[in-house]
Amino acid sequence: MVKVSIPREALEGIMKQYGVDEATASRAFLDAQDQANEAFTRALAERLDSSESVKASSLRFKVPIYTPKQIKEHLDKYVIGQEEYKKRVSIAAAYHFAMLKYLHENPDQHKVKRFRKKNTITAGPSGSGKTYCIEVLGDLLEVPTLIVDATDYTEAGYVGKSADDMIRELIDLAPGSTRKEQANFVSTHGGIIFIDEIDKKAKDNLLAGHDISREGFQRAVLKLIERKQVSIDNPFSPASQIQEAMERQQGLEPKASENTISTENILFILGGSFERPQDNLESIVKKRLSQRGSGFKEDGSFVIQGFAINDTGDDDREKYRNYYSEATAEDYIHFGIIPELVGRSPIRTFVNLLSKNDLVRIMTDTEDSILDQYRMEFSLFNIDLEILPEAIDYVAEISENQRTGARALVSVWENIFTDFQAELPSSNFTKLIVDKKLCERPRDALLKMLEKSPFVDFVEGFRREYGVELILEEEAQQYIEELAQKEGIQVSEAMNRVLSAAKALNYMNVTGPFTVTREMVATEGYFDRLFTKWHQQREAST
Ligand code: ADP
Repeated sequence: MVKVSIPREALEGIMKQYGVDEATASRAFLDAQDQANEAFTRALAERLDSSESVKASSLRFKVPIYTPKQIKEHLDKYVIGQEEYKKRVSIAAAYHFAMLKYLHENPDQHKVKRFRKKNTITAGPSGSGKTYCIEVLGDLLEVPTLIVDATDYTEAGYVGKSADDMIRELIDLAPGSTRKEQANFVSTHGGIIFIDEIDKKAKDNLLAGHDISREGFQRAVLKLIERKQVSIDNPFSPASQIQEAMERQQGLEPKASENTISTENILFILGGSFERPQDNLESIVKKRLSQRGSGFKEDGSFVIQGFAINDTGDDDREKYRNYYSEATAEDYIHFGIIPELVGRSPIRTFVNLLSKNDLVRIMTDTEDSILDQYRMEFSLFNIDLEILPEAIDYVAEISENQRTGARALVSVWENIFTDFQAELPSSNFTKLIVDKKLCERPRDALLKMLEKSPFVDFVEGFRREYGVELILEEEAQQYIEELAQKEGIQVSEAMNRVLSAAKALNYMNVTGPFTVTREMVATEGYFDRLFTKWHQQREAST
């Protein structure tokens, strides 16, 4: 048995710092030392050893390879619906990375040296999972995955970032202890760049001036998609300029080729809602379909030229028809994407508008559901959160009406939970049951739980904000309660509505108790007029 001795001082230090006993401290010390030794041996071998095993390990393709089905199954756990999109993305990614692995392991296969990438373009309403799906994909594949907004970039970075910066940002995400190592990782294992809002860079005939830069950006992206050598460091960064100056001083030509990376192994996914005020991809598709010559459609129905496609009387089906799914290359070009870019994105796919049902499933059936996160957050302060199905249904309905897809869920829940998250951790409550009523009137529900009158709550808040003590007459309170009932709003909301203008009292230098009568809250614009009168009097007296 090998005897290992741990310096007494170190052991005592650990025990003191972590508050653990001697046995735990010595075990932790030995484990950590083992790990450190292992890392040291590996680092040493990588620097000095030219043995086959070290070479083999650095040549190994380090990214796991999945079949399209495995990828799709993973996406299914997180992304609700959007079957077509998930399927196409799974295929594109599975074959892309499998091909890179094959080429890496078979460097002599010149036949497929320039394989045609499955770059993808996708259209569909915002907030319906285009970006999210790619985030989940990147996590699974363990490849650098960059998600950018096209509107943050310009062709050459005159204003804002240049298209080439995307590649450098992708390198930032790669593993490696030096920039060169990171760039090598991307060169070998590839990466994914999702460019959102590509539709905002579409050519627009109504905006002649802006058009040149938009088209320029598209051309810059086209070059990246095809194959371009991009400098791994920003050529305009101070570090690069110093490096270049030093190399020139030493009489050397800057080694351009050493510090560049080819974009050929990067998979590009372009996305956008393809909507703008004057038209959208959907209307372009509709128009094309309606102008198609007379004849039989694929579903067997007969179309007469000049008649709108939905003149079939089948209105309900029309309402849910997703024209994005029928968009062709021609339609994308018509929208303003340059033909070469459309041509280089051979996979065209779409996402559907999320329904209320989808939103319910997003909350209940996904692996990292927003509700799980809230449950977790409340549990951090020992509060058990129980959300009833009726509450989920209510939030789905409210969110659907906001028409921002699943994005609305976050803001709707945040509005419901904000006051509870502020108050409950310092209360005696250990359980919160969320029903529909609570979602409709969260502030009222909270005050009821805390057994606090909404009137007292308002008066306290008003004093804290404006330093003015209000006294609400009984009749004024009654009026506010009735108003809340009538309008179907929270008492606190009704109070805000009729008394928010009372903040004028602060500007009128009122400090002492101020009695609020029924007349004041029942008369629209009461406090505004009070302030105007006060202001006029003050003007007159000076
Ligand atoms: P976009 O289609 O505009 O790219 P995102 O993918 O960014 O929309 O969606 C915004 C957020 O909404 C995501 O981060 C995710 O939490 C949620 N989300 C959107 N669509 C779905 C979906 N189909 N399944 C699960 N969550 C979704």
